[in-house]
Amino acid sequence: MSDRVIIVGAGLGGLATAIRLAAMGRRVTIVEQNERVGGKLNLLSAQGYTFDTGPSLLTMPWVIDELFAAAGRRTADYLQIDQIEPTCRYTWPDGTTFNAWQRLPQFIQAVERLSPSDVPGFFRFLAHTATIYDAVADNFLLKPFDGLRELLTPRLLRDGPRIDALRSVDAAVRAFFHSPYLRQIFNRYATYNGSSPYRSPATFNVISYIEFAEGGWYVRGGMYGLAVALAQLCTELGVELRLNAPVAQILYQHGVAHGVRLTCGEALSASQVVVNADPRYAYATLIPGQARTARHLARLEPSCSGFILFLGVKRSYPQLAHHNIFFSHDYPREFAAIFDHGVPAADPTVYVAASCVSDPAHAPPGHMNLFVLVNAPALTERVCWTREAAPYRELVVAKLERMGLTGLGQHITYAQTWTPADLEGRYNAAGGAIYGLASNNPFAAFMRPPLRAQGVRGLYFVGGGTHPGGGIPLVLLSGRAVAERVSRDNP
Ligand SMILES: Cc1cc2nc3c(=O)[nH]c(=O)nc-3n(C[C@H](O)[C@H](O)[C@H](O)COP(=O)(O)OP(=O)(O)OC[C@H]3O[C@@H](n4cnc5c(N)ncnc54)[C@H](O)[C@@H]3O)c2cc1C
Repeated sequence: MSDRVIIVGAGLGGLATAIRLAAMGRRVTIVEQNERVGGKLNLLSAQGYTFDTGPSLLTMPWVIDELFAAAGRRTADYLQIDQIEPTCRYTWPDGTTFNAWQRLPQFIQAVERLSPSDVPGFFRFLAHTATIYDAVADNFLLKPFDGLRELLTPRLLRDGPRIDALRSVDAAVRAFFHSPYLRQIFNRYATYNGSSPYRSPATFNVISYIEFAEGGWYVRGGMYGLAVALAQLCTELGVELRLNAPVAQILYQHGVAHGVRLTCGEALSASQVVVNADPRYAYATLIPGQARTARHLARLEPSCSGFILFLGVKRSYPQLAHHNIFFSHDYPREFAAIFDHGVPAADPTVYVAASCVSDPAHAPPGHMNLFVLVNAPALTERVCWTREAAPYRELVVAKLERMGLTGLGQHITYAQTWTPADLEGRYNAAGGAIYGLASNNPFAAFMRPPLRAQGVRGLYFVGGGTHPGGGIPLVLLSGRAVAERVSRDNP
């Protein structure tokens, strides 16, 4: 048997695992179906506009430093990562705006202007969520677990009561803030892992703590630079990277993985296989004889997907910051549409990233590149996106026009629309779900497929579909956890 590790997928999880293993001296081959690395962190360039097609905001940048350090490198030699001020500019339908500044004194001034009585509540909220961070960092984020037995440590029993898992994100936010504006801002963080603030446990208020305490960051030149840098490091470490190489099947015999077969028929042998593709897709499609697990995973609630517009606009909107949120009137109704009824919200909250504000080269002079993202339900038969995409695009553009981007529709010179079906098709993300499974109940973390595949030895999962969850830093931490297991299981 070959001594190499094969990694299926060159998303951030696959690249991070490859770097760690190669740095430990293992022979690694990555096979990626697409023509470019990066998975959901990807790139679109057209007519002088450059768009990041996935993540636009980076949190916990120290995770990247730690990854480069594991390979004896320094991030700064590959990437420039900056904090962007403000982290986000919020606008409500009544014309109210709020800048979430990263510098605390400025942020407090902004809260004071909006709702003076909420300043003490904000500090209490920060202290409360710091306690949650302290309790979850080691138990869940930095050392993801493989099943309940690994989790039931004396430390977790001590920390468990501190994680605030028995009420929702919204219930906790209400207990700290009076202002409906601030409540909406803090509830929004549940969407960072594709969940609803009205259903996900208050533990996830840790996400806002991480952003406040550690900042929101941007990769200068475009977020795609992160994928390029990780791929370069892979190459330097001798990782073989095969693009345009879709895997058709994971090969295993007598319950032990021994390679993969590509769709072109070529078989590649390995001592261990790490799957960076979505585990729900992988169990259903790539791993023969696992129909039961596939059915079980298919029954679990997926995270939300996204409806995305890439708009090249021939004018500038000075009111736009790099990151902008245009809120809906009725947040509970919006999440009920997405998660309870499985349909796009009639009045959606719209996120607009204008990376040209930080990187002018991303649009021709006098133009803007607008990445417009609306939370959308993962695919169900209730929505036919082939029919719905055009009218929904009109609805989103009309909303932005009403909320101050006057004449937007007339000034669009380039447009591309991606629906949940596109996200599913491009990345094999089941249902187009962006973050794997939703975290809409206190037990969701325990339902995620484990890092070590069940039933097949030598087969592992890495990335947003497994532990600890989705989003750039967690996916990179997943790579660390998997590389440790691969190395431990086959030293
Ligand atoms: C629109 C959008 C906005 C986001 N915004 C943010 C944000 O602001 N901040 C943040 O931190 N995160 C954000 N995320 C989430 C983040 O992008 C993901 O959590 C992360 O990139 C997932 O990485 P991954 O390695 O788990 O999986 P993926 O990126 O899905 O990579 C999996 C790879 O496997 C490949 N693959 C699948 N099947 C096969 C096969 N059969 N053969 C070969 N290769 C295969 C795929 O092509 C893909 O390259 C966003 C995501 C999206 C889509």
